[in-house]
Amino acid sequence: MRVFLASLLVAALALVPQAAQAQDLTGYTKAQRAEIIRFAANNSLFVLYHEMAHLLVHQMQLPVLGREEDAADNVATWMLLNKRSKEADQALADAAKGWQLSGVAYGSGEFEEDYAAGHSLDKQRAYQIVCMMVGSDGKAFRPIANQYAMDHERQDTCQWDYRLINRSIKSLLSERPANAKSTVVNVTYHDAGGRLRLAADAFRSSGVFDQVAQDLRENFSLRRPVRFNAKRCGEANAFYDPDTIEIIFCYELMTDYMELYAAELPKPAAPVPQGGGAGKEKTKSF
Ligand SMILES: [Zn+2]
Repeated sequence: MRVFLASLLVAALALVPQAAQAQDLTGYTKAQRAEIIRFAANNSLFVLYHEMAHLLVHQMQLPVLGREEDAADNVATWMLLNKRSKEADQALADAAKGWQLSGVAYGSGEFEEDYAAGHSLDKQRAYQIVCMMVGSDGKAFRPIANQYAMDHERQDTCQWDYRLINRSIKSLLSERPANAKSTVVNVTYHDAGGRLRLAADAFRSSGVFDQVAQDLRENFSLRRPVRFNAKRCGEANAFYDPDTIEIIFCYELMTDYMELYAAELPKPAAPVPQGGGAGKEKTKSF
């Protein structure tokens, strides 16, 4: 929801050969390319549900006890957990990993201002997703909680955390009556060429924007129409704009996730610098 000043990220990344390779995915195998795009689309999906939560808080005037940014993450996690599908579970695992990777790449927690920020630290956001997962279903998600070295006592108390959040969200977002009107949602994909073309095409064909728009139409009756705009913004970010009732997804964010994940894979043929995405310009937090 926070709007950042235009950043130097685009220019900075253009100087890094590995980032350039991630933009068009040259040198990566077909399977790696599919993995990179899946990871980026899943992280985008999580961010879109997070923005949808800001929209709902604003348009439905929902009460929020605690920080809205934490609540928006919990709503996004809850929405995906309630789909009870392999794809949604994978999206959550990818989103947790996304926060973990971005925490390292952007040095989340290294700056004093991070502790005064509206958002939790990236690593905390990763753990909170895993906590909700294992709290909702200890058996199904114990492996991922163990993978994150979350101790068993915390895994158990995550059940209480999940139950409280589940009860709270259910009481606020109750079932819509069958005859209620659907929310009007208009989805627009703006053209993007150059270095954003592949990310823009991959974002559109992943269907994540349409999925969240459809969720909004089917499950909520907002009085005012909502616009979903995917476009080039000049920064890797996503926003809910309360003035225009609009969710904006920046194609640069899709590229950013592709680069974060590509940096974790075995390096493609051409020589690339070591260190993955570390030292990237700090620009995003949604
Ligand atoms: Zn937010």
